[in-house]
Amino acid sequence: MMNVDVLTLFPEMMDGVFRTSILGKAQEKGIVSLNAVNFRDYSDNKHGTVDDTPYGGGGGMVLKPDPIFAAVEDLLSKTSAAPRVILMCPQGETFTQQKAEELSAEEHLIFICGHYEGYDERIREHLVTDELSIGDYVLTGGELPAMVVIDSVVRLLPGVLGNETSAVTDSFSTGLLEYPHYTRPAEFRGWKVPDILLSGHHANIELWRREQALKRTLQRRPDLLEKVALTDQDRKVIRRLRQEQQEQQE
Ligand code: SAM
Repeated sequence: MMNVDVLTLFPEMMDGVFRTSILGKAQEKGIVSLNAVNFRDYSDNKHGTVDDTPYGGGGGMVLKPDPIFAAVEDLLSKTSAAPRVILMCPQGETFTQQKAEELSAEEHLIFICGHYEGYDERIREHLVTDELSIGDYVLTGGELPAMVVIDSVVRLLPGVLGNETSAVTDSFSTGLLEYPHYTRPAEFRGWKVPDILLSGHHANIELWRREQALKRTLQRRPDLLEKVALTDQDRKVIRRLRQEQQEQQE
C-alpha cells in the first residue's frame, strides 16, 4: 500500500477530495492511505506559531523551519521506507505525467504545502527531495497543487482504475494527446460518429486512433512530437498531415 501524508495548515481542505470517487475507493480497497497532518500541531509554543517575519525586512511572513522539520521527522520515525519529501512551490520542477509515473512507483510520499507566504530556505535545502510546481501561476496555497499531484499519481496505482488500460492510452502517457472518443447515439443533431468506429474492424480502428492522436498532437501540442518515439508509419502520417495543413492555409 502506498502511504501519502500531506503537511498543511488546512487539513479540512483535503477531506472531500480524499473521500470522494476514485481516491475514496482506492483507500477503501487498501491501495493507498491518504493522511492530512496539521503542522501547526508541531509548533513548539502554546500559540501554535508556524511563521515569522523575514530576516532582512520586507513584507510577508515566512514559514519557520522547526514545525515543518519536526512534522516530517515524526513521520519518518514511523516508517522503514525512504519517503520522497515534496515541497509544493511555484519555483519547483513543473509537474508532468512522467513525474506522476515516477512517483507512482514510490511506497511513501510526503507533501509540504505552504500557504500565503514563503518557506524558510533551509526547508528547501535540507529537508525535501523534490520541489514541484503545477504550472506558471501562483495560488494562495500548496493544498490544491498537492491534491492535483496526488490525484494523478493515485489513479496510476494498479487496481485503482476499473479498466487498467484506460490510463495507458491517456493523453501524455503515450507521449501524444489522446484520440477523440464517441459514444451512443451514432447520430446526434445530424452529427455522425465516424464510420470507422462502427465498422467493428479493430485493426483499422487502432490505425485511425493512432492517426487521430498524431493529428491532435500536431495541431495542439506540436512540441510533444519532438520527444515521442515515432514509428516510420507515424512519420509518414505526420508528413501527410503537415502537407494537408499547408494546403488548407494556402
Ligand atoms: N512567494 C512565493 C513565490 O514567489 O515563490 C509564492 C508563495 S504562494 C502565494 C503560497 C504557497 O502556495 C506556496 O508556498 C506553495 O505551497 C503554493 N503554490 C502556489 N502556487 C503554486 C504552484 N504553481 N505550484 C505549486 N504550489 C504552489
